[in-house]
Formats: sequence, structure tokens, C-alpha cells
Amino acid sequence: RIDAVLRRQRDRESSARTYARSFPVVPVRAHGMTIEGADGRHYLDCLSGAGTLALGHNHPVVIEAIRRTVDSGAPLHVLDLATPEKDAFTEALFATLPPAFADRARVHFCGPAGTDAVEAALKLMQTATGRRGLLAFTGAYHGMTTGALAVTGNVAVKEPVAGIAADVTRLPYPYSYRCPFGVGGEWGAELSAAYTERLLDDPSGGVVPPAAMILEAVQGEGGAVPAPDSWLRQMRRITAERGIPLIVDEVQTGVGRTGAFWAVEHSGVIPDAMVMSKAIGGSLPLAVVVYHEDYDGWRPGAHTGTFRGNTLAMAAGTATLRHVAREGLAERAATVGARMTARLDGLRGELPAIGDVRGRGLMIGVELVDPEGEPDSCGARPPAPRTAAGVRAACLDRGLIVELGGRHDSTVRLLPPLVITDEQAEAVLDRLADAIAEVTA
Ligand code: PMP
Repeated sequence: RIDAVLRRQRDRESSARTYARSFPVVPVRAHGMTIEGADGRHYLDCLSGAGTLALGHNHPVVIEAIRRTVDSGAPLHVLDLATPEKDAFTEALFATLPPAFADRARVHFCGPAGTDAVEAALKLMQTATGRRGLLAFTGAYHGMTTGALAVTGNVAVKEPVAGIAADVTRLPYPYSYRCPFGVGGEWGAELSAAYTERLLDDPSGGVVPPAAMILEAVQGEGGAVPAPDSWLRQMRRITAERGIPLIVDEVQTGVGRTGAFWAVEHSGVIPDAMVMSKAIGGSLPLAVVVYHEDYDGWRPGAHTGTFRGNTLAMAAGTATLRHVAREGLAERAATVGARMTARLDGLRGELPAIGDVRGRGLMIGVELVDPEGEPDSCGARPPAPRTAAGVRAACLDRGLIVELGGRHDSTVRLLPPLVITDEQAEAVLDRLADAIAEVTA
């Protein structure tokens, strides 16, 4: 039966299916951090629906909120009409925002996915500024619809699609390990900021007048790459001085994952817009853009859509936001994440294929390299995507689901739910270390 399910989906589903290729698992039940396959095997889930499940699978507060809403007879779909569920969600969301941002913010409910919220934010700023150019970073991931794809960095996914990316100026993200300027750390970040500033002011730099800069405070698909807080503050200064709205994409970093409720909070930066999805819907699809009221220049209907916030997603999202705040799960993500990162860092001596361990909170990346290869000017050895794919498979054999990412698909990414227990964290690291040892033996 399991084989038949896998075979039928392979035959019927588009060839673009991804996760189902990497993880030939047929999930039938899930709870917390654990997925049970139809084969009866249990897996520790460090993918969490690509970072969606802040509270893990089927958390009781989420299930209860969904059940209560269904039982109440509330309409499940009412376009963008005012509902008690939307009101509660908006209040819960605004309570999590930095007060200096929340005070003068507006929310726009978007189509269900992160990419919809990115599109909305880009269009909003293009409308507000009358400019069409966009500033985005190397290694960025913002989604798969054409606007979001234009600001995404990865050429392989853009190259086959005609007519995008014309007005995007690509700037160097301060990726410390494979640093764009041959220097890592704060110094590399300073150079990224200096380059950005000079390019923007260079009339021959080819920069189309920008409607916005969009960035991730910690790049997710780019390989769990955190930017120094000082760099984020520099980007805020540079954009503010030039009247360029700053959009921070919190789709993956939000709702406690990086050790603060929103990743911008680490730096104290107040952006002009924040794009949110994934965890805000408590495992159901929901996406919003929250922005400063000064940019609220859309005429009614300027950016519309059928699915503009679903009642069940708002109920599940409200329960999630409140639970993360009430239980201090961002702080927990910081503590457990730091402990996991430290232990992984300690493995580098015995496992030389571990080139870099990085991240923030429970957004962790382990970049695998060829230990025999020549180091570059930053000391980084060549990326090892084949090793990484082998490690992902070896992890699955050990009942651990991890996904890859990064510029070369050579980074193992850990995105466990924020409710991961200490024992589960140890089990994840035991299995991962064992898998790396086996694949690189
Ligand atoms: N922005 C970021 C930072 C993301 O990580 C993602 C998804 N991985 C998106 C946008 C797009 O979200 P979605 O896949 O829901 O369209």
C-alpha cells in the first residue's frame, strides 16, 4: 500500500515535486516533533514544514483552536470581510511587533503563501514610491512567483523563466564563511555596507531607482546564514538616508525561531515593512505584509485576491502567536539553539567535513565541505553537495528528517519546532553526527 501511494503520486504529481523526492515517507500521523510513517517508523522532524511548525505537529492549543472555530459555525471563507477571528489574529500579531513599528503599522492580508506576501510588499512600495527598481541580496530566497523570484538570488531557478530580474540590483550579503570580499565576520559585513552605499551613489552603477530593499535577517534557504546586527543597522541607515523603504522578509525567521519573536528585534532595526507567513498560520496557510502607514497608498482593490486570510488559519495562528509569547518559546529557541550549535561546532575536530556551523536560535546550518580541497582566501574549503545529499539520506535511515540548502546545496539545515525537548535535541545531534561519520568514512 505504501509503495502504491508513492508510485501513484510520482506518476500523477508534477515533476517539480521536491520534498517527496528527498523523503520517500508516507506520513500518517504526527505529534510534536515526531512524524509516523505508514510503515510504522517514527521520524524526528527537523524540517517542520520548511520552518512552519513553531509548535510542532498538531499541538493541542492549535488543534483546540481549530476545533472550537469549526464547532462555533463561523464562516470558513469570507474573502476579506471583518470577522472576530481576523480581529483576534490582528490583535495577537500586533502585540508581538516591536512597539515602535506596531504603533503606526497597517496589515494587508495576502494570498496564502509567503511568496504572495512578498509580491504584495514589492508592489506596495513600487506604488508608494513611483519607482520600479529593487535591491536584493546574493543568497536571498523570497519565493517562486515572478516578482519574488526576481529578488531571489539562485540563478538556477530563474534562468529558465524569461523576462524577470531586469530591475533588480543584486548586493553582496555578508555571508561570513564564503565571504564576498574575501574577509569574514564584522569586517566583511562592513565591506558589504560600504559597497552598497557606493554603488547606490554611483550614477554609472546601473542601479534602477529603487522602490525598496528586501532582505532576510538570517537567510534561510540561503543556508541559515545570519547577518551581523551591525550590518542590518547599516542597511537601515543607508536606505533611510536615501528614502528607500526597507522590507524585511520574516517568512522563515519569524515567530520565535531565531531567539527573538521577530529576527529584526536582535538589531533594534525598525523596517518599513515586514513580510510574514509560515508559522503565523499555526500550520495552516496564511500570509501578511505589515507596513508603516505612510506607505498605505493603495486605492481600494489595488491588490486584491480571493483568499485573503482563512478563518481557520487565523484561529490556529492566534493560538500559536499567543502560545509562543506566553511560554517564552523564543527564549527557549535561543537557549536550545545555542547549545546545539556549540555541540555541532565541537564536532568539527573529529568530522573535518563540517566546514562551518552557524545560525541563530533554532535556525541552524551545518555546511559540509571537501576536507581535502584547497581552502579559498577566507579559509573555506570547496562545498560538498554530494556528501550533503548522502548525509540527508543517512539521516532518514536513522529516523531523522533534515533538509539541505545554501548556495551549493551543501548545507544541512536544522529547523526543529521550538518545543523540541533537550532529549530530542541530543537525539538529533547524535543521529546527524553518526550520519556524517558514516558518509565521510
Ligand atoms: N521568504 C522566505 C524567507 C522563505 O524562506 C520562503 C519559503 N521558504 C518564502 C519567502 C516563500 O514562501 P512560500 O514558499 O510560502 O511561498
